[in-house]
Amino acid sequence: IVKLSNGLEKTREQLSKHLDTLIKGHKSFDQSFWDEFEEILIMADVGYEVASNLIERLKARIQKQGLTNPEDFKAVLAEELNIIFEPKKRISAVNLPEVVLMIGVNGVGKTTTIAKLAHRAQMQGRKVLIAAGDTFRAAAIEQLELWAKRVGAGFFAKKAGSDPAAVAFEALDKAINEGYDLLFIDTAGRLQTKVNLMEELQKIYRVLEKKHPGAPHRSILVVDATTGQNALSQTKLFKEACGIDEIILTKLDGTAKGGVAVAIVMQHDIPITFIGLGEKMDDLRPFDGLEFANALLG
Ligand code: GDP
Repeated sequence: IVKLSNGLEKTREQLSKHLDTLIKGHKSFDQSFWDEFEEILIMADVGYEVASNLIERLKARIQKQGLTNPEDFKAVLAEELNIIFEPKKRISAVNLPEVVLMIGVNGVGKTTTIAKLAHRAQMQGRKVLIAAGDTFRAAAIEQLELWAKRVGAGFFAKKAGSDPAAVAFEALDKAINEGYDLLFIDTAGRLQTKVNLMEELQKIYRVLEKKHPGAPHRSILVVDATTGQNALSQTKLFKEACGIDEIILTKLDGTAKGGVAVAIVMQHDIPITFIGLGEKMDDLRPFDGLEFANALLG
C-alpha cells in the first residue's frame, strides 16, 4: 500500500514550508498576505487564473466565518479544497461489459495506468480485457501486452497500423462473447491536430455505441502531474475534442507540482478519480479530496 503523504512529499514540503512562513509572517489577512499566498500557489503550479479564483473563494469564506487570524488559514484552505474536490456525480450501473476509453498523450503513464486499473479490477474479482487501440507504435502494443500478462488480464490487439476503431470493435466483440466484465481500450497518444484526434476518437465512439448501447461508459484522461501547466492544457484539448468523464493524475510521487490537481478540478470541473504514485501496479490510489488536501498541507 502506498502512503499518499509519502507520494506527495515534494509538493507538500514546498507548500507547507511556504504556508508556515506566510502564516507566521502575518498578523492579519492583509494585501501582502494574499500577494504572498498567490506566489505560493503559482510555485505549486496552480496557474494565475485558478490562483485568483481560489483567493476570492478563500476571502469569502474567511469573511463569512469572521476570521481575522492567519493561524486559522490552513484549516480554511483544507475546507475549501475539500469542497473543490468533492465528487459531483457517481456513475450508475452499466450493462456489461463496461467499456472504458483511455486517453492521453504519449509518455504520461497511460500504459502503466491501464495496467494499474486492470490489476485493481481483477483484484476485485472482475474479468478484464485490455485492447491495444494505439496502433501507431508497435512498441506500445508490445508494452501493453506485457502488462496485461503481468496483471493476468486478457489482451486484444491487431497489427501495428490497423484502424483503431476496428480494434475497438473487435475487442468489444471478444469481450461480449467471452464474458468479460470490463474492457479498457487504449487510444493513440500522438499529439495530433485537434481535428484528427476528434475524428479518430469519434469513430471509436460510433462503432462502440452502435454495437453496445451506452459504450463507451467512461472516457478517462491520463495526465502527468510533473508537466504542471501542460497537464492543464492537455485537459482542455481533450475535453474539447471528445469529452472527458474522469482524470487520472500520474507521477505525483516525483513532483512538487501537485497543485495542478486543484487547477484541473477548478478550471475544468472534471473529477480526478485516481492518482499515480509510482511505477508498480499497486501504485495507484483512489483520489480523496480531503485526504489530498490534508496531505498537501501537511
Ligand atoms: P505512456 O506512453 O503514456 O503509455 O506511458 P507509460 O505507461 O509507458 O509510462 C511512461 C513512464 O512513466 C514509465 O517509465 C512509467 O514507469 C512511468 N510512470 C507511469 N506512472 C507513474 C507514476 O505514477 N509515478 C512514477 N514515478 N512513474 C510513473
